[in-house]
Amino acid sequence: MSRIEIKNLCGGYDKHTVLKNISLFITEGSFTAIAGPNGSGKSTLLKHMIGELKPDCGEITIDGTALSSLNRIDLARKISFVGQKSEFAGDFTVQDLVALGRYCHFDEKSSMSVIEKSMEMVGIKHLKNRLISSLSGGEYQLAMISRALCQDTPIMLLDEITNNLDPKHELKILKLLRRFTEEGKTVVCILHNLNHILNYADNTILLKDGTLYDSGKTNETLTVEAVNKVFDVSCKITHVDDRQMLTVY
Ligand code: ADP
Ligand code: MG
Repeated sequence: MSRIEIKNLCGGYDKHTVLKNISLFITEGSFTAIAGPNGSGKSTLLKHMIGELKPDCGEITIDGTALSSLNRIDLARKISFVGQKSEFAGDFTVQDLVALGRYCHFDEKSSMSVIEKSMEMVGIKHLKNRLISSLSGGEYQLAMISRALCQDTPIMLLDEITNNLDPKHELKILKLLRRFTEEGKTVVCILHNLNHILNYADNTILLKDGTLYDSGKTNETLTVEAVNKVFDVSCKITHVDDRQMLTVY
């Protein structure tokens, strides 16, 4: 299990500062959702958390160790990432794609069983010999999640991975993410569907214009007032059986 701490983070791209003074604590074994309007800095925050972007100020630590002090292999053993526009050039089979997750482990003996297990857990074992170019959007996204799972990291960071998926695949992925946290992984996922956040995420981080609007337990953070302030829409939260329904209008 791993925890992430972000202290006074400022950062972005060359002369374009996006994130302003972000401080956060992401608890181990939790499912944390990041939400905010388009362009509010969600993907930029994840890029800082995987070390792709370097902070202008502030620090990110993982289990108390500065992210900046970890080498590529150590980092790949700590954090797996599925990006918003993750596309692989070339034609691999699903199994080859998933196997890429093992590159940081150098343990050929156990690799095959981990690859098989990762495909089985995500439910794509029957696709293992298929070329990735032949997969549907949902199947491809599941293969990418399987690759991240195969990396066997305590932290998984995922950027809008449920976009463009049908309701069945969407729920399948959300349930999978919950299952990963039950097994001790720390999962951080950018999500646009506020209903899904309400019903699946333990904690929520709300970003607005590159600043942290609020973070904490989802029920206390994703409130009617917060949705109004962050997204500039009205909303209502109702209960249907044991589910919560957030309607924006
Ligand atoms: P979100 O994921 O919340 O939609 P992003 O983090 O992708 O937003 O973008 C935040 C801001 O940074 C936006 O204004 C966007 O235009 C800008 N931005 C994103 N990527 C780059 C880049 N590679 N170079 C310069 N600016 C960028
Ligand atoms: Mg984004």
